[in-house]
Amino acid sequence: GHSEDRINAALSELRGQLGGSLLQPGDAGYEDARRVWNGMHDLHPRAIALAGSVADIDPVLAAARSTGLVLAVRGGGHNVAGHGSVEGGLVLDLGRLREVAVDPVTRLVTVEPGATLADVDRATVEHGLAVPIGVISATGIAGLTLGGGVGWLTRSDGLALDNLNSVHIVTAAGDHLRASEHENADLFWGVRGGGGNFGVVSAFTFRARPLPQPVLGGNLFYAPEHWKAALAGFETWSRGLPDEMNPIVSFIAFPAEFGLGDAVWMVIGCAWAGADHQPGLDLIDRLRRLAPPDQEEVGPVSWLEWQSAMDSLFPTGSRGYWKNVSFSRLDGEVIDVVAGIASEVQWQGTGIDIHLLGGAFSRVPEESTAYPNRSSRFLMNVYGFWSDADDDVRLTEFARQAHARMQPFAEQGEYLNFLGGETRQDPQAARLTYGADKYGNLIDLKQRYDPGNLFSRNHNIQPRQP
Ligand code: FAD
Repeated sequence: GHSEDRINAALSELRGQLGGSLLQPGDAGYEDARRVWNGMHDLHPRAIALAGSVADIDPVLAAARSTGLVLAVRGGGHNVAGHGSVEGGLVLDLGRLREVAVDPVTRLVTVEPGATLADVDRATVEHGLAVPIGVISATGIAGLTLGGGVGWLTRSDGLALDNLNSVHIVTAAGDHLRASEHENADLFWGVRGGGGNFGVVSAFTFRARPLPQPVLGGNLFYAPEHWKAALAGFETWSRGLPDEMNPIVSFIAFPAEFGLGDAVWMVIGCAWAGADHQPGLDLIDRLRRLAPPDQEEVGPVSWLEWQSAMDSLFPTGSRGYWKNVSFSRLDGEVIDVVAGIASEVQWQGTGIDIHLLGGAFSRVPEESTAYPNRSSRFLMNVYGFWSDADDDVRLTEFARQAHARMQPFAEQGEYLNFLGGETRQDPQAARLTYGADKYGNLIDLKQRYDPGNLFSRNHNIQPRQP
């Protein structure tokens, strides 16, 4: 009918306006372009705009407004909830815009919105610098930063979003704004934890830190019969650690090329961010005494190698469902529950990461960003990544059950980048996640910058009158 004609006309107009290209079903490249990391989200957008430059953002937003097609904005496409695509809608894919410009004098690093974590690391190590990001190098910097960004430098330097200096953002109305502590500070507050709700970020500028190469990295491996004792030792060790020590405890089985068999291991991974390795080695030695490992690898490692060491476990097209819990206690009762959940981890299917927080992360004032929780000591991510659709129900259920079993110890604030999907679609759950005050501020901001909810394909903050 008429509206179909109008949509087709708008899309062909858009095709002519783009410096990049527009792909529709049947076009060469469409099948590839519609895929996101999570193979469970097998979606068929009406059109995918592959931005050729940031100038392509404007006409795509205009087309979304004029057609009413649901817009999905895609950076690295790694969102576990599949928000980088949309059934029957219009995708703005920024994935070709991957430039990273490093100023070695000011240490400011300006990143295009389609860059991956690997792009950022490769550009910064050239200058002996690093930006705190995540642990799998194919992840997009955009979604990671707008939600938070936890990884191997979280205790030493905070989240990725804590190291943002400014962003350039295109709002729903088409305004091009710069947001920082000094300009449009309300918007800057909201983009640091509110996800893609307020506009399309066309550039991220980070403050990088010096990170001399090689870094000190350590992995201590524990067989199942030692998990509880090792967790207890880890808890003792984790009290009073200097900021430079960044540990993540994982329960996971490794692919054959790691040479670790197909058993599930508990691994205490440690990245020491100090220039002098000796204090880090001394701390790891203390951990060894408190929690003697069955195997270990400790020593200097290049940052790029450390930052991509786990990549092969998480190929694009994996099916995935994740849940997360913030908590602070790791006493005998909690250790029993964690070890119980971990005993159900399976080879090439599920895993658990427990990030030790604190340090610089915890000193960022709670109210200074929209990110929901600075006080919990641990962030636990329970994840599935599998390849066979027959496992969907079972492995989704694993994450849900684990989440449910941890609820007695859970503190307010779930990390939106480790959500498999449904939580934020429920406004009540979102309110609980952010807390009532923060959620109220986020709704005010949404009302101001996106009252028509143009940016809805995300962990959505609903405006008052959509
Ligand atoms: P996309 O799917 O492209 O986008 C994610 C969301 O951000 C969408 O809602 C999208 O609309 C919005 N968005 C994207 N680009 C823009 C933009 N330019 N402007 C406005 N909105 C935008 N997180 C961590 O913190 N630490 C980790 O170590 C970590 N490891 C991960 C490993 C794997 C294998 C996976 C799949 C995810 C991991 N994550 C991690 C979670 C990750 O941070 C989120 O999945 C994040 O959403 C990915 O961002 P993206 O740009 O790749 O995703």
